[in-house]
Amino acid sequence: MHARQGKDPSFGRGSTPYNRKQGDPAQRPNPCVAPLDEGPYYAVKVVPGSFGTFAGLRTNQHAQVLDASLNPIAGLYAAGTDMASIMGGYYPAGGVNLGPAMAFGHIAGLHVAGQR
Ligand SMILES: Cc1cc2nc3c(=O)[nH]c(=O)nc-3n(C[C@H](O)[C@H](O)[C@H](O)COP(=O)(O)OP(=O)(O)OC[C@H]3O[C@@H](n4cnc5c(N)ncnc54)[C@H](O)[C@@H]3O)c2cc1C
Repeated sequence: MHARQGKDPSFGRGSTPYNRKQGDPAQRPNPCVAPLDEGPYYAVKVVPGSFGTFAGLRTNQHAQVLDASLNPIAGLYAAGTDMASIMGGYYPAGGVNLGPAMAFGHIAGLHVAGQR
């Protein structure tokens, strides 16, 4: 019944714009939810994985890791998955992992070299 109405109260599929962008645009009202009517159906094995994390080491604008008092730890830098996401726990769009990873890796390198 829920699928026919395009609803997914259990898992919220299709509840965010990013989520909907990944769905089937021909499927309305919710591109991520459809009733199982007529076959044929195909089965795929889905294995959970992770391509990033929102948790990580807290850093400053130079990619220096901060201690519990928010002071930089000399010589310790973080970028990419090791660094707490600048998105603050949200995933607004693809690229939010690799973009900051490359930018803060570059920034860390400049700081280590004393150029910033
Ligand atoms: C399927 C998939 C799709 C993705 N799509 C996107 C996307 O579209 N856009 C986007 O922005 N991001 C995407 N990501 C996320 C992005 O790829 C990662 O966030 C990013 O690669 C993390 O970079 P990293 O250098 O921090 O870590 P990693 O790339 O994981 O690098 C860590 C490295 O450390 C090595 N290592 C681990 N332990 C040790 C050890 N003890 N000694 C020596 N080496 C070690 C590992 O082998 C690895 O090479 C995707 C990820 C996956 C898996």
